[in-house]
Amino acid sequence: MDVLKRVPVREQEPKVRATNFAEVCYGYNEQEAIEEANRCLGCKNAKCVQGCPVNVNIPEFIGAVKKGNFAEAADIIALSSALPAVCGRVCPQENQCEGKCIRGIKGEAISIGKLERFVADWSRENGFVPKTVEVKNGKKVAVIGSGPAGLTCAGDLAKWGYDVTIFEALHEPGGVLTYGIPEFRLPKEAVVQPEIENVRKLGVTIETNVIVGKSVTIDQLMDDEGFEAVFIGSGAGLPKFMGIPGESANGVYSANEYLTRSNLMKAFREDYDTPITSSQKVVVVGGGNVAMDAARTALRLGAEVHIVYRRSEAELPARAEEVHHAKEEGVIFDLLNNPVEILTDDKGWVKGVVVRKIELGEPDESGRRRPVEVAGSDFEIEADTVIMALGTSPNPLISSTTEGLEINQRQCILAEEATGQTSRAGVFAGGDAVTGAATVILAMEAGKIGAKGIHEYLSQK
Ligand SMILES: Cc1cc2nc3c(=O)[nH]c(=O)nc-3n(C[C@H](O)[C@H](O)[C@H](O)COP(=O)(O)OP(=O)(O)OC[C@H]3O[C@@H](n4cnc5c(N)ncnc54)[C@H](O)[C@@H]3O)c2cc1C
Ligand code: SF4
Repeated sequence: MDVLKRVPVREQEPKVRATNFAEVCYGYNEQEAIEEANRCLGCKNAKCVQGCPVNVNIPEFIGAVKKGNFAEAADIIALSSALPAVCGRVCPQENQCEGKCIRGIKGEAISIGKLERFVADWSRENGFVPKTVEVKNGKKVAVIGSGPAGLTCAGDLAKWGYDVTIFEALHEPGGVLTYGIPEFRLPKEAVVQPEIENVRKLGVTIETNVIVGKSVTIDQLMDDEGFEAVFIGSGAGLPKFMGIPGESANGVYSANEYLTRSNLMKAFREDYDTPITSSQKVVVVGGGNVAMDAARTALRLGAEVHIVYRRSEAELPARAEEVHHAKEEGVIFDLLNNPVEILTDDKGWVKGVVVRKIELGEPDESGRRRPVEVAGSDFEIEADTVIMALGTSPNPLISSTTEGLEINQRQCILAEEATGQTSRAGVFAGGDAVTGAATVILAMEAGKIGAKGIHEYLSQK
């Protein structure tokens, strides 16, 4: 065994997986997990932990895996994370724990994410149940939204004895984990639902089909229904568009709508009667994780897929692993190009996209080289479907129906970094609703901070 190299993880063959929605990565088996864990140096001052927003005790859980004591490893992770099977699959570990791993200096960092995923899957398959709290403190807290921020906040508060109800607008809980990230990266029935069930088992009630701001307001929850504090974890689900001609044509989707139709409404399954347009040639605009997910979904639904992105490969914001997987599966990358018009046929359906070539100029305020359009370089890409994956912002419904709740120009709720406290007494917020579109683990960190903030607020009340 070469200790400088990772134990490779088994995956579905690219050609096979491009035609199905089953999970791409198989994960480690027991023997592979122990072998990979044995590469860990068990550092005293572990840099990997500093890179984890929820501070999972990584050397300790990996130490337990080394001994083959997977239940102990699961207990250690459960102290910090309510969603380990999710995080092990979708966290950008290369920029976080693994990015800081000492092993990574001379060789390959420990596969911390794959080990976390192994432990979480093992514990689920072996009936591991999180410890619950018997004694309630009689205080009611409402959580708005059941994404990673809301679930984490609710789970922590329930462990401390609070009576927590999550109000979720959609008919299924989970937020982006359920409606955004596709099945082939994050299986719903096998992985997401059991982790949500674990939060329920802590005593949390989840009420679906409740749109706060329409079905009930925050003031009604606090004044009429006895909730002493509220955590807003409503995410950033409002899609952005380019504002180019033809964008309202039939066959233009936001990535959010396209993915929701596939993931939540199961358009990819033949036994569901909520179908999606059957496309031959799809253009996905954008270069982030959402663009990769939309492109790989369209590919699996049988289309030829082009990603059109205005910068170069070095600037693609998506995780390197997702770009690599998309390429292996046959997604075509048309980089340094920007759509300027969507062409339609006489019935108003998309028939192509006019694209202008781009050159990279001087770096802008984000440090990335600024895209500069090349005059006279327009060309057409034939397409019957266009998916816009340009980012999202928080929906203004809650801020517009809650007096005194301050937001910034990007519609994000203003909340104190250390506590999650908003401008309204007793109202806390975190996750994408505060930061704009970010990551699962940052939303979980914000959920933890919000839970602590609420606990301190209610303890002093
Ligand atoms: C397609 C896609 C792929 C992604 N891939 C990754 C990835 O690989 N890795 C990663 O770390 N991150 C990824 N992200 C980002 C990550 O999923 C989000 O940052 C994270 O889910 C934010 O969590 P949240 O709890 O703040 O919000 P969300 O997950 O958005 O959950 C918010 C919930 O609140 C509900 N809600 C909204 N308004 C109301 C209301 N008025 N009343 C009641 N409920 C309401 C929504 O229905 C939703 O269920 C991806 C995002 C998308 C869209
Ligand atoms: S930094 Fe790397 S080697 Fe050290 S404890 Fe963390 S995972 Fe193990």
